[in-house]
Amino acid sequence: MIWNRERETLTDRKKKIIHGELLKNLVKRVYDSIPFYKEKIDAARINLDGITSITDIAKLPFTTKENLIDNYPFGMFAVPMSTIVEIHTSSGTTGKPVIGGYTSGDIDMWGEVMARCLTASGTAENDIIQNAYGYGLFTGGLGVHYGARRIGANVIPISGGNTKRQIMIMQDFKSTIITCTPSYSLYLAEVGGELGVDFKKVSLKAGNFGAEPWSDNMRKEIETRLNLMALDIYGLTEIIGPGVANECRYKNGVHICDDHFYPEIINPETGEVLPPGEVGELVITTLTREATPLLRYRTRDITALIPGECKCGRTSVRMKRIMGRTDDMLIIRGVNVFPSQIEEILFHIEGLEPHYQIIVDRVGNLDELSIQVEMNERLISDSIKGLEATENKIVAEIESVLGIKVGVKLVEPKTIVRSEGKAKRVIDKRQI
Ligand code: ADP
Ligand code: ZN
Repeated sequence: MIWNRERETLTDRKKKIIHGELLKNLVKRVYDSIPFYKEKIDAARINLDGITSITDIAKLPFTTKENLIDNYPFGMFAVPMSTIVEIHTSSGTTGKPVIGGYTSGDIDMWGEVMARCLTASGTAENDIIQNAYGYGLFTGGLGVHYGARRIGANVIPISGGNTKRQIMIMQDFKSTIITCTPSYSLYLAEVGGELGVDFKKVSLKAGNFGAEPWSDNMRKEIETRLNLMALDIYGLTEIIGPGVANECRYKNGVHICDDHFYPEIINPETGEVLPPGEVGELVITTLTREATPLLRYRTRDITALIPGECKCGRTSVRMKRIMGRTDDMLIIRGVNVFPSQIEEILFHIEGLEPHYQIIVDRVGNLDELSIQVEMNERLISDSIKGLEATENKIVAEIESVLGIKVGVKLVEPKTIVRSEGKAKRVIDKRQI
């Protein structure tokens, strides 16, 4: 099912016209209403009358997270406070939270893009969505909520946490769709298992999982343990919250709602725009956002755009799953490593539970990386030799794929802290 067939299957020609019109309007809007942009555009001597088509976007400056922080809290608002109907902030994973303002038009748009994302995972009017993203300043809870309302589905606003209650409600209310972070979904599976729940008898059929990076092997774990189809949903507060992009059931790329959010990929070091297929930093221009519009916002998230058409019929541009963010990329002896790459390796090795943590430390002048991963009950009862063999296997596989030598420690089940929202994968002892 496609929620908005007209907008999600635009031809290239039509898309170009829409993009051009929206961009032209956007630059005028930000110039007239946000002093930060006026200064920036004047300083770069950009003639706004020369912005007539989407290709002119290359003439425009980037916006960074630092720019938003400098204008904290309301300096990037393009509309008077009286027309703002809601404010959200990022979860603050990396420092000071950034602010998103919403007019009622923005909330409408959010409902629309979220309806597309939920529909992509098969949600329809008769579904019961157990929304376990946190409600509050974080965008996850209310974003899903607005999409569910738009579809006319039944949304259970349970929010994150209280895991036993989640399991009870899921069974009693017969929830068909679950929305939460991928790491929390595995925790739900674990607690469900402890309570003797057979997920084959639970009504869940699909889930939109996001807000943090996760690998394809983690997807397999979630799908098997919860007995559902797990799809990736992407978004960030600066742009709208969740609803920027979602996988379709073909799982071969995350469809970006590109009639609202115009994507580019750049080399994060040089700012050069990269062609489709090349990996770099995702940059998004909010074509239709009213309250906090952004020109070429550097998301710090690493991905690549995928050329070509998708079997689902949508023509919206796809990107690869986010590998990680530039600010959680580890540089270990000159090698760039994302936690998601380590996860991908760990999760296909026999005997492990999908719970891990990466510890970075400095020994002498060198950064050392060690991994703690939980073993399953079967491996625990194995001989010391068996445990060593598993540790060695992890070390060898990571070395062969990433080219770095890491330390590995197998730990007992349930010793690594579980998260109700975004999992903390990396512990950086270098800052302590
Ligand atoms: P922050 O985590 O920076 O405080 P948000 O709460 O707005 O801010 O979360 C947005 C960020 O979460 C994104 O920039 C991205 O790094 C991460 N994220 C969101 N969805 C996904 C996803 N599906 N895959 C990987 N990362 C994601
Ligand atoms: Zn598709």
